Amino acid sequence: MAAMAARASQLITLGAVLVLALALADVDRCSGAQDYDFFFLVLQWPGAYCDTRQSCCYPRSGKPAADFGIHGLWPNRDDGSYPQDCNPDREFDPSKVSDLLGSLRAQWPTLACPANDGLRFWAHEWEKHGTCAEDVFNEHGYFQAALRLRAQLRVLDALRDAGVQPDGGYYSLAQVKDAIQQGTGFEPFVDCNRDESGNSQLYQLYFCVDAAGSRFIDCPVSPGGRPCGARIEFPAF
Ligand code: AMP
Ligand code: AMP
Repeated sequence: MAAMAARASQLITLGAVLVLALALADVDRCSGAQDYDFFFLVLQWPGAYCDTRQSCCYPRSGKPAADFGIHGLWPNRDDGSYPQDCNPDREFDPSKVSDLLGSLRAQWPTLACPANDGLRFWAHEWEKHGTCAEDVFNEHGYFQAALRLRAQLRVLDALRDAGVQPDGGYYSLAQVKDAIQQGTGFEPFVDCNRDESGNSQLYQLYFCVDAAGSRFIDCPVSPGGRPCGARIEFPAF
């Protein structure tokens, strides 16, 4: 009899543990538990986007400034994988970033053709990447964080201070990385594309940001991307 009672109490305890585990799993799912370890902030040199066989279109607001723009803020995992398209219920809503539109036009310019106002690019970035970081950012917070982080780096100043200019000249990959490390305190991954003649050129810079989306860190993993030659062109824009 005592053995049966003990067995019954064991089963009840087991049941309770199971119910609790299931409830916790559900809370995790609903609260969008963090499924990444850090972010890549990806900056883009517009001259290199445009100086390709595919070319580019300036946004309706006009030619963007000759400065690094934002491509995206991408949640990533330490093993190199990344989540994407995490919440189809959170479509991009421009009214939620109405106060940021001027800054987005200037610092996150679309260069896709046909010419447009940028909403498509921002919607793509939010829906593909931003919705995977809803534990730290709502839509407004996502765009605001990327703008703030970009402004903090002042990458073009770092390059200019070291004599690396967007003048169509060639620089060594080490020179580019060292200049940015000196000026910003962080060494980016450099992603190159090719101009119409096949020359390797400075296209994108990957910086790493902690999982809270608040400060730069040394990168836990390389993003891969296209290898640069030892000498890379810094095209004018
Ligand atoms: P990923 O999927 O970033 O988040 O974005 C890749 C897509 O963004 C590709 O279709 C690219 O062609 C596009 N893309 C990259 N840079 C820009 C840009 N400056 N303007 C518009 N589209 C871009
Ligand atoms: P790529 O072929 O490198 O231009 O990458 C195409 C698209 O894939 C990018 O625009 C991103 O949206 C996505 N992607 C590539 N690598 C990563 C990464 N490490 N983290 C998040 N998204 C990535």
